[in-house]
Amino acid sequence: MKKVLIANRGEIAVRIIRACHELKLQTVAVYAKEDEYGVHRFKADEAYLIGKGKKPIEAYLDSDDIIRVAKQTGADAIHPGYGFLAENEEFARKCQEAGITFVGPTVQQLQIFGDKVAAKHAAVKAGLHTIPGTADPVASLEEVQEFGTKFGYPIMLKAALGGGGRGMRIVNDESELASNYKHAKSEAKQAFGSDELYVEKYLDHPKHIEVQILADQHGHVMHLFERDCSVQRRHQKVIEIAPSITLSAQRRAEICQAAVNLMQSVAYQNAGTVEFLVTSDDFYFIEVNPRVQVEHTVTEMITDIDIVQTQLKIATGQDLWADIHLPKQEELTMHGNAIQCRITTEDPENKFLPDTGKIETYRSPGGLGVRLDGGNAYAGATVTPFFDSLLVKACVQARTFDDAVKKMTRVLQEFKIRGVKTNIGFMLKVLAHPTFRLGEAHTTFIDDTKELFL
Ligand code: ADP
Repeated sequence: MKKVLIANRGEIAVRIIRACHELKLQTVAVYAKEDEYGVHRFKADEAYLIGKGKKPIEAYLDSDDIIRVAKQTGADAIHPGYGFLAENEEFARKCQEAGITFVGPTVQQLQIFGDKVAAKHAAVKAGLHTIPGTADPVASLEEVQEFGTKFGYPIMLKAALGGGGRGMRIVNDESELASNYKHAKSEAKQAFGSDELYVEKYLDHPKHIEVQILADQHGHVMHLFERDCSVQRRHQKVIEIAPSITLSAQRRAEICQAAVNLMQSVAYQNAGTVEFLVTSDDFYFIEVNPRVQVEHTVTEMITDIDIVQTQLKIATGQDLWADIHLPKQEELTMHGNAIQCRITTEDPENKFLPDTGKIETYRSPGGLGVRLDGGNAYAGATVTPFFDSLLVKACVQARTFDDAVKKMTRVLQEFKIRGVKTNIGFMLKVLAHPTFRLGEAHTTFIDDTKELFL
């Protein structure tokens, strides 16, 4: 591997370019017309316009055009980042056919984990607990009704191909069933191209705990401990921490081992995340994200392992231990506590609608234990409505969780961003809340806590 094309934009494209340059790999960026001034374009060694005449998001989904650029520039690998084509098995196959290394898992692994029903089957086979639910997509409203009667409400309708916190609906009682079922089906069809739904018990106040996995092509699988991503708004992560501060050592060991078992059972290769919902008495598998995640940063901060560099090395066939020299599982330690806040250009005072416009002032924080991963975050940049609203990820690491919260508070206060609205003020309220400080936030903490919105 000598030259890597990054099939993405924004902060994650920059993150991958940095990893490549540290490994002395050349980089090729691709960009949509609307990203003409995108930072990733200028950070890479070369950059090319893709998807001419297409809508902005579609440009980054234009697999043929991306492969064309890879071939023309002699790139021998493509890193897809997250989102866009990262979990697209067709794209992975096309890369393979073009003789280009796809920095990700195999096509077959993408097939399993791209379909939440297939993923659940794999998890059960590997001995993991799953949330009581239908084993397969439901064929009719009556089937859902039967499930509700048998297991009790609330229940959750989920799109088999859903993702990104979308394609889920809670049904609180039978009276809501018919209309929710209809809407969930049509939403799933529209967003994911398939109206297949399955049903699960809706868990009361769980925590979202996920395990970072690294796995090579030689059958070696290791975990890098867990992240607690319970601070969510409408099922989308807002603040992530590593490690969890409420898991017992025994529960941590069990969850991490379950994640390793699942990935081993499918001979997984690449970085990946196994997600669980954790209640006071058990932990349940929900899904695998077979790619680098937005919140990989906090794990890097407590383990010092560069996850993106490791992905690239794994893709060239290197062994986790013999070649990459990662610590053996039993020797791996973590230090301190890390927190990430996703700073977005959303307006908390206007239903979190994305704001757009020119960033007039941009002064960012720094200091010991602070990490910023930004995309187009600088004075003079224009925030367009075409892409997601993530502006910069602010991460901190400190010796204790309490110190990390204090540091993050200072970091957020130090930001001066004018010209475009951000969620910084809202995040400061979350950080100050006693429930968050005690590590007791569960997945509906934000949605349920009215004072955060005052
Ligand atoms: P996505 O792939 O869209 O991210 P996930 O399956 O990972 O969806 O779920 C995202 C979030 O939705 C979880 O972290 C949790 O907050 C909530 N969730 C999902 N399934 C359930 C469930 N059965 N009960 C309660 N909350 C759930």
